[in-house]
Amino acid sequence: MIKPLRGMKDLTFEEAARFNYIIDIAAAIAKRYGYGYIETPILEETALFKRSVGDSSDIVSKEMYQFEDKGGNDVCMRPEGTAGVVRAFISAKLDRQPVKQKFYYYGPMFRYERPQKGRLREFHQFGCESFGEASVYEDFTIITMIAQIFEALGIGFNLKINSLGCPECMPPYRNNLVHFLKEIKEELCEDCNRRIGTNPIRVLDCKNETCQSLLKHSPKLIDNLCDTCDTDFRKLTSLLDDANIAYEVDTNLVRGLDYYNKTAFEFVSNEIGAQSAIAGGGRYDKLVEYLDGKPTPAVGFAIGIERIMELVNMPENTKEGYYMGAMVPEAVEKVIAIANAKRKSNKVTVEYASKGFKSHMKGVDKSNARYALLIGEDELANGTVWIKDMESKEEMTVTIDDL
Ligand SMILES: [Zn+2]
Ligand SMILES: [Zn+2]
Repeated sequence: MIKPLRGMKDLTFEEAARFNYIIDIAAAIAKRYGYGYIETPILEETALFKRSVGDSSDIVSKEMYQFEDKGGNDVCMRPEGTAGVVRAFISAKLDRQPVKQKFYYYGPMFRYERPQKGRLREFHQFGCESFGEASVYEDFTIITMIAQIFEALGIGFNLKINSLGCPECMPPYRNNLVHFLKEIKEELCEDCNRRIGTNPIRVLDCKNETCQSLLKHSPKLIDNLCDTCDTDFRKLTSLLDDANIAYEVDTNLVRGLDYYNKTAFEFVSNEIGAQSAIAGGGRYDKLVEYLDGKPTPAVGFAIGIERIMELVNMPENTKEGYYMGAMVPEAVEKVIAIANAKRKSNKVTVEYASKGFKSHMKGVDKSNARYALLIGEDELANGTVWIKDMESKEEMTVTIDDL
């Protein structure tokens, strides 16, 4: 028997319903903010992710589903969504137009990680990317939108924010940090030691407790921002204050992806393990340029669908549509004809086998139909159907023409 691959799973019934419910709500809210749907290929040139996500990141160095296709091309299944959307934005030459563009997407992402609870090798994200807007108002608006999505889904969250600076204030800070890290090098973990040389900012979010206690006295970028970054960050916090969106400034909130600058944020949930991230994002003003487009400011986010699946408050399943069945074999085709006519505007479940009353009523319960519609010997002879409203419990016999 062939099973799904390790770290991959099928979505059916309740889970599939939850998945669709989340996407429907998130997409409806994104549309209200002016986002249009974009679909990009799952398979891209490996170079795209090496350049955008960064060679030194764990995602690129350890976790990519990378292979050579039959034409000898080095390709990769997308490990995240932003790079492909940015590539599509540039491919369509939208970077050469003065119009601001906003896209939302959802779909599967692939990372070859050790599968564990809540971490699949094929997982799903819903995300938005806004291009051409440099104003911090857009960062605030995006955070508001995510908060609205989580509220609509009935999910509680804590918001963490930070500023990652810009090409003016980040490099001198990075030098200061490297200097500090070299002093405490001996006591830092192996990963951190490797990162001092490759991606020192990532040392800040090391999960090792010893490292974290050593980092308490590290220089903070938030205290060393240039005037522009500082003004923007203060603006963002005052906008959040005015909108009554609670947040915590977390100076260790850095992104694993190299192209983020200025605003970085993360939504975490306390309901699934310790402070698990359920959404993350921020500004990435340099990425379009890195990928050979015209310099275009951008800001975006992604929500991890599997992370929030269990947290969603689904509305109660209401009884809907019809269950139709025949109690004599001669009535089956009559039932099918009525079902097809009713399907123009109703959900209809049809039982093809003719059965007794009790057996049909079990089918009605299972299908969660609002109305049971049955045709027996008498109804067939009289050109009528028997209907029961499963909510009011009212029963009636009506002619087929009156249906
Ligand atoms: Zn700056
Ligand atoms: Zn460490």
